[in-house]
Amino acid sequence: MQLLDGKKVSQAVKLELKGQVAALIDSNKRAPHLAAILVGSNGASETYVASKIKNCEEIGFKSSLFRFSENVEENELLETIKKLNVDESIDGILVQLPLPKHIKESSVINLINPNKDVDGFHPVSTGKMTLGLPSFIPATPYGIMLMLEHYNIETSGKNAVVIGRSNIVGRPMSILLSQDREYGNCTVTVCHSRTKNLKEKCLEADIVIAALGKPGFLTADMVKENAVVIDVGITRVADQTKKTGFSIKGDVDFENVASKCSFITPVPGGVGLMTIAALLKNTYEAYLTHLK
Ligand code: NAD
Repeated sequence: MQLLDGKKVSQAVKLELKGQVAALIDSNKRAPHLAAILVGSNGASETYVASKIKNCEEIGFKSSLFRFSENVEENELLETIKKLNVDESIDGILVQLPLPKHIKESSVINLINPNKDVDGFHPVSTGKMTLGLPSFIPATPYGIMLMLEHYNIETSGKNAVVIGRSNIVGRPMSILLSQDREYGNCTVTVCHSRTKNLKEKCLEADIVIAALGKPGFLTADMVKENAVVIDVGITRVADQTKKTGFSIKGDVDFENVASKCSFITPVPGGVGLMTIAALLKNTYEAYLTHLK
């Protein structure tokens, strides 16, 4: 069994970006600039946004955080996005999800300038990605693709099971893996909450992507020998032995599954770090198109 080390791979991605930013600054160009919008004070969202901003700083990107209270009016958010859309100093706009219930997520996401849609959630990005055209790819599936590439994992002709069909993880992941592309060409089965016989489907999979948000869901009896297992899940589980009062658990019963796998991602230290690296890559790509 080999660990797919998100720390190592994301560091390599960030080091490359850092060098590219340094070269830009040397030639008197401005640094790429990410704008992050955070609504409310959800602990996990706070942590994710803080980490994205810290990572921007580490590699020399500029970042701006726009914070709003939990009861902000939708219109105020939309006005902020309109301003950021036309602000030439901003390359990428990310809106940390989930948003409070009174705000329609699609109204906010769909207003983002597709050229600045570094999270890849805008329908234009989704459409282009689905057609195999150059586009921003949602950061988590993109990060997983970077990981598969780094470890040169054979995917062509393999059976892949993606558990979860969300627009930000499961769905785009299933599309990418099925496409005629490097690290694609899988035969993909998308499983979800209504799927029957999920265990049998998983047992046929050479590659399993677990993205459902249920800690320890994928157990050893559901995984075939030498499978590649990618754990996307991030759930906070109460843990009094930790200072924070919680620990982070993935969707895979890592302890029992790992020994059966050829490759597996740990949680933490796997897909989460790759997601941030992919977001930074998208922001750099956005910057390059704005320079033209
Ligand atoms: P979501 O709640 O939007 O979607 C969950 C999906 O799982 C749904 O499509 C649902 O049909 C499916 N599902 C639920 N129960 C199931 C079951 N018993 N069997 C089969 N399928 C089932 O979640 P999401 O936004 O896609 O996130 C999934 C998980 O990934 C969460 O833990 C989230 O925190 C995590 N996540 C991690 C990263 C990262 O960077 N590592 C990024 C995004 C999300």
